[in-house]
Amino acid sequence: MALIVQKFGGSSVADAKKLFNVAGRVTDAYKEGNSVVVVVSAQGDTTDDLIAKAHEINESPSKREMDVLLSTGEQISISLLAMAIEKMGFPVVSLTGWQAGMNTDSNYGSARIKTIDTERLKRELDSRRIVIVAGFQGINKYDDITTLGRGGSDTTAVALAAALGADVCEIYTDVDGIYTADPRIVKNARKLDDISYDEMLELASLGANVLHNRSVELALKYNVKLEVKSSFERIPGTIVKEVGKVEKMLVRGVTRDNNVARISLVNIEDTPGKAFKIFSLLAKKNINVDVILQSIGRGNTKDITFTVEEGSLQAAIDVLQENLSSIGATDVKYTKDISKVSVVGAGMASNPGVATLMFEALYDANINIHMISTSEIKISVLIDQKDAENAVRAIHDKFKLA
Ligand code: ADP
Ligand code: ASP
Ligand code: MG
Repeated sequence: MALIVQKFGGSSVADAKKLFNVAGRVTDAYKEGNSVVVVVSAQGDTTDDLIAKAHEINESPSKREMDVLLSTGEQISISLLAMAIEKMGFPVVSLTGWQAGMNTDSNYGSARIKTIDTERLKRELDSRRIVIVAGFQGINKYDDITTLGRGGSDTTAVALAAALGADVCEIYTDVDGIYTADPRIVKNARKLDDISYDEMLELASLGANVLHNRSVELALKYNVKLEVKSSFERIPGTIVKEVGKVEKMLVRGVTRDNNVARISLVNIEDTPGKAFKIFSLLAKKNINVDVILQSIGRGNTKDITFTVEEGSLQAAIDVLQENLSSIGATDVKYTKDISKVSVVGAGMASNPGVATLMFEALYDANINIHMISTSEIKISVLIDQKDAENAVRAIHDKFKLA
């Protein structure tokens, strides 16, 4: 008898038929004698629809009220799934984030889980109920509802698995595992049997939305056994595990992230302290900066270019415009029409040929590179967004990942 956490994403619970499919998988695990905790996301496009509804009323609603609204999507799913399971004759209870003891910080819209008070959960499990928990939501110290950021139900599931000491955390979705690239973009992408936490963390942080990056962070930290598998087909998925236990591939996957904006400050005086000034202004506004490039410059000026998430673009532009004269730059330029394309693989640390091969693929496809960044196990390039899908396919082909 095991303790299993199962998470079902939005497309897996989109309608009544799919809810009964999920109820079948949950009750099968329960019938085998396991304790089962189920995390669900909002049905289908509900979260997007709620965001659109909010914007009909107010283009920039407060983040607190957004979280009150968005958390309702998951609340619909938990109750409907519980009703399906009731109808099948099994003992079940649905819990919202706060009922499940999910305590977060107050960063509305992308809150982090701080602690989980498992008392209620354990009580329900002890009385042999199937427990359904709303994903993506929690409660802060003011008793306000928070949400964990898009895709955050994965993180709810892994956090619960860690807190309860579950034997496994199964992430059920609309693909049957983790692939060498998004199978929607690369038709001949290959399913992986396993992948290391580090590689998956890079892929997830670099745009592979099959897992929320914080869920992988938590799985790594608390050593949660994580499996990504299909909600619809009963076949093995992909297991995320420790690096020593997976085959070291030069390149494990290719991914792209369109949620990137590029900002350039031009004609900055070439004197010490400018980078410090710019990035401390951004840090004070809690804006994360990713790739940074400083040009050699002309005369006694230079340019500094960097990337931020699209959602932070406006705030970044505002603070830089306000401080333009003290920064000593003449202009702020920016674009959203940019993507980051990355290759990830634990084996590349000791192999200098990877970057060359990646650049060759882009050259063959006639794609221009704007910026480059590397780390031990990944290489990223910034390119025009219109080229991103072609780039992923070209690189996937070049590394013969199919
Ligand atoms: P859910 O609603 O179940 O959380 P998501 O849409 O968040 O599902 O994640 C699943 C999607 O992730 C897939 O449909 C697929 O298009 C996308 N995806 C991106 N990169 C990958 C990858 N490397 N392997 C598998 N799926 C990927
Ligand atoms: N419903 C939320 C979203 O669409 C959370 C999730 O699906 O994981 O982002
Ligand atoms: Mg998801």
